Amino acid sequence: MSGRLLDGTAIASAIRADVARDVAGLVSSGVTPGLAVVIVGDDPASQVYVASKGKACLEAGMHSETIRLPATTTEAELLAQVDRLNADPKIHGFLVQLPLPKHINSERILLRIDPAKDVDGFHPMNVGRLSVGDSTAFRPATPFGVQQMLLRSGIETKGAHAVIIGRSNIVGKPMASLLVQDTPGGNATVTICHSRSRDLPALARMADILVVAIGRPEFVTREMVRPGAVVVDVGINRVVDPAAAKGYRIVGDVAFAPVREVASWITPVPGGVGKMTIAMLLMNTLQAARQQSGR
Ligand code: NAD
Repeated sequence: MSGRLLDGTAIASAIRADVARDVAGLVSSGVTPGLAVVIVGDDPASQVYVASKGKACLEAGMHSETIRLPATTTEAELLAQVDRLNADPKIHGFLVQLPLPKHINSERILLRIDPAKDVDGFHPMNVGRLSVGDSTAFRPATPFGVQQMLLRSGIETKGAHAVIIGRSNIVGKPMASLLVQDTPGGNATVTICHSRSRDLPALARMADILVVAIGRPEFVTREMVRPGAVVVDVGINRVVDPAAAKGYRIVGDVAFAPVREVASWITPVPGGVGKMTIAMLLMNTLQAARQQSGR
């Protein structure tokens, strides 16, 4: 058997087209959804992400602002930017790109963001709303993207045993929150595994749907996957490869080729979950604009 590909590129572009259509409807009613991204310092990877977010926003017909601040920005100055964006009626959603320079307390910045504009869904108010099943909560983009991949590929989560490896606040925990809700793309039985889990391979083999988000190159081997399971690989890892033009290549947390032989569906890396994140950020910005405008 060779697992079918869960094609993040195709699914993300379908979602972006849906968002653009809905944005056009809102614009014609007088509301242009606006997203701002704040970046502090010059981390090259963050600069690339931020540029892609701005471009995607414009392509969807949204208003986009990128606020670039020097690495020497103080916490008080960044808090003042957050206050300004909280009050700006053109901006329906915004995020502060992480990681922040060490002298800034990320927690304090996050807590200052108005939960109604927190399109990353990391504010504790949104985390709580998501966990109680409030549909107005913003869902963190990466796990929300995984759920959309499953839904749009017709993969049934209801009654399935979903095993998540990784318990981070941005992927593992919100993934569990989404999969356990009584909604489409939910109603799964969820197990979360982490670095202290006993006999992780045995737990992984119990999965109908295995979601892996740990940041360990090719950690999940064929022996850890039940034949017929759906395998979602969130990991993005650089590994040295002298044969590659850049001297490295990108691999996931799953050993793709051997696992594909037993899986029913599998996400490639790259071209899988990573492609979904920006599409879901746009969807959250559209949701924010709708919620704030009542349209
Ligand atoms: P993190 O470092 O915050 O958390 C990793 C989690 O994995 C921790 O909960 C830890 O307990 C668990 N873990 C680590 N080693 C383990 C082991 N040997 N066995 C079991 N559990 C283990 O990571 P994160 O931010 O959740 O990201 C995870 C991966 O997903 C990274 O490769 C990251 O680059 C990638 N990522 C991708 C996207 C995307 O858009 N596709 C978004 C976010 C993160």
